[in-house]
Amino acid sequence: METIHTIEWMKQVARQARAEGRRAGFVPTMGALHAGHLSLVHAALAECQPVIASIFVNPTQFGPSEDFQKYPRPLDADSRKLEDAGVDYLFSPEPAEIYPPGFCTWVNVEGLSERLEGRARRGHFRGVTTVVLKLLEIVQPARAFFGRKDAQQARIIRQMARDLHLDTEIVVCPIVREADGLAMSSRNAYLSPEQRRAATILFRALDGARASIARGERDALRLTAAMREMLRTEPLAEPDYVELVDAETLEQVTRLRGACLALLAVRIGATRLIDNLLIEEREGVFLATL
Ligand code: AMP
Repeated sequence: METIHTIEWMKQVARQARAEGRRAGFVPTMGALHAGHLSLVHAALAECQPVIASIFVNPTQFGPSEDFQKYPRPLDADSRKLEDAGVDYLFSPEPAEIYPPGFCTWVNVEGLSERLEGRARRGHFRGVTTVVLKLLEIVQPARAFFGRKDAQQARIIRQMARDLHLDTEIVVCPIVREADGLAMSSRNAYLSPEQRRAATILFRALDGARASIARGERDALRLTAAMREMLRTEPLAEPDYVELVDAETLEQVTRLRGACLALLAVRIGATRLIDNLLIEEREGVFLATL
């Protein structure tokens, strides 16, 4: 695996691959890699050559009181994981390379970016879409791989790719979970052992909704009320939002129809965790996927 720090060299390598008719797969991350990130790498390796991963802790998607400074940056361990997985290139630029002095162009996906995570984290998605567009422009991959763990982010990036006529196909991969159901996240490392046990409440609330849907529940208000009730049983959990939305518009629904997402954001101590359940209607049958 070759590690690349500059935009110019990354462009050169990607351009060369395209000139050879190869279809690059791209996996953007902020590092502190876990099996969730590596599942995206494996999906890319199965379909693309070369596979390019990036590690960039993007300052513009963190709010002033968020964890940008203390976000984990175990670059050597991450680099080994990517190399062992079979990644061809790691792109790891410095913030000053991505945001040079005088930088003033932003990308904003209106509407979708203001709901849910966007309401709780003002400006967050503007930072995400801006950096993702920059990375896609530098690498110009045939496919870029994202996790459904960040379902709203994936939906917004798909919208951006459609609206800006990007040539990159956006691929959304399943959520990878710990044995007890907790969705893997770099931020899980912040949790104390007691908080780590409490954090399974997100999975348990969503799994309860999944079971109700399997029993025939279609009423969104009853489903969200039951999830809130489940969250209340965990004294360490402070819910931020519990919503059931249309998977396309991200607007609240009153009854399940088409594709929906049940989305949770919960604070455990100082750590904010998110998780979701995908609910899809197929020939009148609702299938809920954790
Ligand atoms: P991050 O490093 O948090 O920016 O995440 C980089 C990519 O990995 C994003 O597309 C995430 O949605 C994805 N990702 C993070 N956690 C998981 C997980 N548990 N399962 C699947 N994908 C994930």
